[in-house]
Amino acid sequence: MIRVKCDCGAAFNAKDDRSGTAFKCSECGTTLCVSRPELEVSPVPSADQLLAAATTSRFTSNIIWAAVAIAAVITLLLTSRALQEARDNKRRYLKEIAEDAQSAVAFQQRQSIRDSQRNRDGLAIQLSAAKLRRSKTNLDSAKKLLIGGKNEEARTLLEKAVNDAPESESGKEAAEILRTLR
Ligand SMILES: [Zn+2]
Repeated sequence: MIRVKCDCGAAFNAKDDRSGTAFKCSECGTTLCVSRPELEVSPVPSADQLLAAATTSRFTSNIIWAAVAIAAVITLLLTSRALQEARDNKRRYLKEIAEDAQSAVAFQQRQSIRDSQRNRDGLAIQLSAAKLRRSKTNLDSAKKLLIGGKNEEARTLLEKAVNDAPESESGKEAAEILRTLR
């Protein structure tokens, strides 16, 4: 049986072999065709419809959440890598500063060692100059004492003259005079 419905609301049953024929509605007179109901074919959904269906489905929302989670993890990894790089750079920078400071301190130490060495050398020179002067003065004083006959006092000054600068002219002369006194 083929069910035929009219727009006016009336419904008729027609035998299968009446398919392809026409008749008038007994209620309103509209011509009706007896035709087999077509196979229901759903229209192919549009891309927008698919997208709409996809975004509302739980499956897709899970996929979206998974994508968000993956993006978050990737962002985290990239961020932590960037932080690690920043830390490495900072460490390298601090190390460079420390090395610079170290070499500056070392340089200063060397400089101050050189300075103190120079000062020591200067002092030694000044000291030996003072000793040389004192040796000459003592030699002159001893000569005067010898002329005055004060040999013991002269001997003490001559010994000082030798001790202060044994290698100098005055030291050698004082030693020579001491030998004649013995
Ligand atoms: Zn009708």
